[in-house]
Amino acid sequence: MKNLTAVSRLLRRSSRSLFDRRSNLTFLGAFCSSSSGLSYKSLQTCEQFTQDDCFHKKVMSKRIYFLRGYGVGIQSNGLRTHHRSLASIASTPERNKSFATINSDDISYFKKVLGERGVIQDEEKLDDANTDWMRKYKGSSKLMLQPRSTQEVSQILDYCNSRCLAVVPQGGNTGLVGGSIPVYDEVIINIGSMNNILSFDKVSGILVCEAGCILENLISFLDNEGYIMPLDLGAKGSCQIGGNVSTNAGGLRLLRYGSLHGSVLGLEVVLANGTVLDMLGTLRKDNTGYDLKHLFIGSEGSLGIVTKVSILTPPKLSSVNVAFLACEDYLSCQKILLEAKRKLGEILSAFEFLDINAMDLVLKQLDGLRDPLPSSKHNFYVLIETTGSMESHDKEKLEAFLVQAIESGLLTDGVVAQDINQASSFWRIREGVPEALLKAGATYKYDLSLPPEKMYDLVEEMRGRLGAAANVVAYGHLGDGNLHLNISTQQYDDNILSKIEPFVYEWTSKQRGSISAEHGVGLMKASKIHYSKSAETVQTMAAIKKVLDHNGILNPYKVLPTSVLSESGGQEPKKES
Ligand SMILES: Cc1cc2nc3c(=O)[nH]c(=O)nc-3n(C[C@H](O)[C@H](O)[C@H](O)COP(=O)(O)OP(=O)(O)OC[C@H]3O[C@@H](n4cnc5c(N)ncnc54)[C@H](O)[C@@H]3O)c2cc1C
Repeated sequence: MKNLTAVSRLLRRSSRSLFDRRSNLTFLGAFCSSSSGLSYKSLQTCEQFTQDDCFHKKVMSKRIYFLRGYGVGIQSNGLRTHHRSLASIASTPERNKSFATINSDDISYFKKVLGERGVIQDEEKLDDANTDWMRKYKGSSKLMLQPRSTQEVSQILDYCNSRCLAVVPQGGNTGLVGGSIPVYDEVIINIGSMNNILSFDKVSGILVCEAGCILENLISFLDNEGYIMPLDLGAKGSCQIGGNVSTNAGGLRLLRYGSLHGSVLGLEVVLANGTVLDMLGTLRKDNTGYDLKHLFIGSEGSLGIVTKVSILTPPKLSSVNVAFLACEDYLSCQKILLEAKRKLGEILSAFEFLDINAMDLVLKQLDGLRDPLPSSKHNFYVLIETTGSMESHDKEKLEAFLVQAIESGLLTDGVVAQDINQASSFWRIREGVPEALLKAGATYKYDLSLPPEKMYDLVEEMRGRLGAAANVVAYGHLGDGNLHLNISTQQYDDNILSKIEPFVYEWTSKQRGSISAEHGVGLMKASKIHYSKSAETVQTMAAIKKVLDHNGILNPYKVLPTSVLSESGGQEPKKES
């Protein structure tokens, strides 16, 4: 009864805050979506956010390209082999001498197969392709190939394999572990020209497309069909579905729709020797032997090049709510998560968190953003999204959840988006953290899976170790047990690195966590994989790599330690003919 009174009071009053200490009044608003995307039912209240906020998704894609030209305290000097990398330079493996170097006959062959426009030797374009999104790693490849069909991918891989030319598959180049750029002079095979949608079944929601389709384009395509992609991430404007599959990207919707191991129904993959594996099924159930596609989901281009993807997409639902909430302590964030799972159940679609350091950084570094809860600072912020099919039902559930959270003291403040501008601006805060870190200087970036109750202990211990030398910033997908721990400094410094590593990996390993929740292993963590996988598991991975890529030409130096690969013979290419 008490709650019902509180809810009806909520709905009558229009304060922008859920928990306004001054007036002790709260307000809740819901919005619904139309066929053209999100539109809002109640537009009458709340401070307006800037136009920039409304279309942050589009802006994000532009910004990613813009930021490629943005230095982070690292001097760029053209074809230098490496930027100063996150890992110490000493840990970068030696170039494998068995790999051939490109000659004029190779260029002629590639031009014959791909035509002039598929063979890129232009220095500026190569400079971009040799540099990762964070500008931490830089390769020195002299050649990028842009195939337009599976057959072309097959032909060029067959040729590279026969010549022992090492290659790096590249998608949108938004990866955060140095996996998408060459370490030395590997040939870059960029899949971006393979960007056709091949079919969409409006009844089953199964989309089949080429691997180079940009995630945001797929999201827009499906929006018109009344569906959504089962994954969404801040890099959507540049990353490609082939890159998403190859990294097994998690992102903002994993809590609701699960990992790509669940939603990818089929793949077409080209192996190192040019063999095309047609596993492009569209069936939900198919128990005929080993399900090989799973080997390629998350293998980061080390086992084959993904050329086509078949993916199950969920229908777009009509009622979406986004709430930006504040908690005093981390324990309250955990309790709110538990309550959200219990009370919001099937409509909960995202549960993200950021700490005060992350919030301060975003507001300081990114233009056009404002604090949705400006009356005071809070130690923790939580973004909750619900997605359902019946507005009144969803609203009732959210109201009940919020009222109880306020009354029990778990929330110290909060606001529910009243229109698309506000919802976008709330998301922009959370999605903008990587960009804000990039602008702030150098970042030591860790992407960890940990038991949620332990997660923030690591952050606090790290602050204790580093003192004033660094800004320790924590945010992430709390609903998935995924912490993004970022240590932000003016510039890279081996002294600081030695205080962070191996401590961070040992700590995670002790909790039986994962040193890579969703970003992959890449170059950054290839030699660290044993913190999360047993020696026997790593050896089995190396044996699989050897079977599928006998000469080790696919994305060398990444994912697995080179020492293990050479033990299994996986990095011993046959001699040049
Ligand atoms: C702002 C920002 C936010 C991000 N948010 C998230 C997030 O929430 N969740 C998350 O999981 N990641 C996130 N990432 C990391 C990154 O966007 C993802 O890993 C993404 O899936 C990479 O896709 P891509 O097309 O850019 O791949 P790339 O960066 O080009 O490549 C990544 C890896 O996949 C391989 N690869 C690429 N394409 C193919 C292919 N067709 N066949 C075989 N191998 C291939 C590459 O060799 C490389 O090892 C974020 C990155 C940024 C910059």
